[in-house]
Amino acid sequence: MGKAVNRNFAGSVLAEGGRITPLMIDARDSAGLGLCNPSIFIDNGEPWCILRNVNYTLYHCENEQTFNNRWGPLSYLNPENDIHLRTWNFLCKLTPNLEVERYWKIDTSAFDKEPLWEFVGLEDARLVRWDGHLYGIGVRRDTTTNGQGRMEFSELELGENSVKEIGRYRIEHPLDPNWYTEKNWMPVLDKPYHFIQWTNPPIVVKADLATLTSQHAHAPNEADKIDGLPFLRGGSQVIPWRGLYVCVVHECDLVHNKQGQKDATYLHRFIVYDRDWNTVRIGEPFSFLDGEVEFCCGLAEWQGDFLLSFGFQDNCAFALRVPEAMIPKVLGVAGHRLAKREKWRATQYPTLEVTTAVPAKGCPMECAFCPQDRLEAAYRGERTLSLENFKSLIDKVPQPVQITFAGFTEPFLAPDCAAMIRYAHEQGHPISLFTTAVGMKFRDVKEIKGLPFGGIQGGFVLHLPDCEGFFTHRLTKEYMSLLTALKSAGIRNFQTMTMGALAPELKDLFPDAIHRKMYSRAGNLKRDDVIQIETRPGPTTCGCQEKLYHSVLLPSGDVSLCCQDYALEHILGNLHQQSFEEIIPENGTCFELCRSCENGVPGVRQ
Ligand code: SF4
Ligand code: SF4
Repeated sequence: MGKAVNRNFAGSVLAEGGRITPLMIDARDSAGLGLCNPSIFIDNGEPWCILRNVNYTLYHCENEQTFNNRWGPLSYLNPENDIHLRTWNFLCKLTPNLEVERYWKIDTSAFDKEPLWEFVGLEDARLVRWDGHLYGIGVRRDTTTNGQGRMEFSELELGENSVKEIGRYRIEHPLDPNWYTEKNWMPVLDKPYHFIQWTNPPIVVKADLATLTSQHAHAPNEADKIDGLPFLRGGSQVIPWRGLYVCVVHECDLVHNKQGQKDATYLHRFIVYDRDWNTVRIGEPFSFLDGEVEFCCGLAEWQGDFLLSFGFQDNCAFALRVPEAMIPKVLGVAGHRLAKREKWRATQYPTLEVTTAVPAKGCPMECAFCPQDRLEAAYRGERTLSLENFKSLIDKVPQPVQITFAGFTEPFLAPDCAAMIRYAHEQGHPISLFTTAVGMKFRDVKEIKGLPFGGIQGGFVLHLPDCEGFFTHRLTKEYMSLLTALKSAGIRNFQTMTMGALAPELKDLFPDAIHRKMYSRAGNLKRDDVIQIETRPGPTTCGCQEKLYHSVLLPSGDVSLCCQDYALEHILGNLHQQSFEEIIPENGTCFELCRSCENGVPGVRQ
């Protein structure tokens, strides 16, 4: 403690190769007024944020404070006909460079009531997804005449062209219903409904949406309090990182300036806790851009880096990307025994494909380019994955790993496939699906149509019958109406493909079906008239974007190297018995199969 405050943390980050990006929307939508306190969050592998829009302009006189107004250095400039301090929120999808790509004003009309106090709206909402539901969670103070504040969940539903609030839950104080104001609870991303209420020592509370109550979920340990620090209030979400928890908090010094006027100055700190909520480190204070009024309510880990989102003087908002190499130093845990970086973090696109069923005679579609004979000969074990087993297996897979329903057979051969897709999504995994829709029911379309299919090589890919014999299927009335239902379901990232010329009966329905490249299946194809490639001479590893991390889970729990391994010669382990991290290979490991695969590249690690 006691070091000089870093008043330009953003500058330090840029000097180390980081990046800062303003978060802006069209001034016609923000009315040219303040955009502030963004909360960044990675949802299904993509960066999103909630951006707060206020109906005032905050003026804070900084430095020597020679341009104060008559009441002091801090003033809110309101519209003349409205003295309320109003907040609206926008949900924003960000580009990989963290610029705002699309945004929607959150429609709260289903729950709005006439405000009873002058602060109106949900303030400083943190974005989270718990149990599949997307929430903005912040403080609301407009429901009583004295401005009593409580944390509120605002459940959000993203439609094609709108974002609606579909649920509102006001959570009571854990101990005292007469308590004046609760705010800045920090949601713990991997523990649904848990928050850090107070930070030093940490007090963890759990909210119950059914009863609208909260209770302590971890007994506070006063001995863990670090003395000599100012009162530290909540800020960002609490994220799991390398076996620890990390968050950004703020201290707000409500001071009087030289002229005796009321003033405020905010500084931020990182706090690191262990998984039992012991404090590992409370960092030095910093400001982002040398401002006195800044506020951070977003922290995420993405592609190994940290993303912080903060507002400056309630007027503008930024996302700051902190390079991975800086993080231990920034947190002050460089000498700490950090959990080993997981192997799958070698790629930005870790994926686990799921084979939901292996019938005794293989996939009944018998596509010409799909070596089902090899699979039939090699596979042993449970033939159809049950929902119960799927859940227990997926619970062992880290949340950033995309779950792709494809594997070695048609996913809808398993009757519970739709429920599995939904479950994977509810656990926070990015999801994608490759299907012929054979075996799919109309009720399945209903169950999965609203899910956010996406991710690497992903989306919802519908494989259509062709007229060259690669994939043939009878175009019955029922199959055609199921395909029609899929087309009109408004599914996100819906694509159609075929391996040969599209069946003529489907041309009007799917004029945009694309023709996909065929793979040799790494030497596994029986019909070498389809496609074969020459075997590479030396040690070979995977050159895919996912690197070696696109393995295939089988109904038995076995995990195979990848979707080319139809002969199951490279079973890496069993997820019933081992952890995901134990099973997956070290980055760059060479495999015999890769020598016969289009995606193979020279490697050295045996
Ligand atoms: S390509 Fe798909 S549908 Fe065709 S046989 Fe293989 S797994 Fe089955
Ligand atoms: S067989 Fe091909 S796709 Fe599979 S891991 Fe090796 S190189 Fe990658």
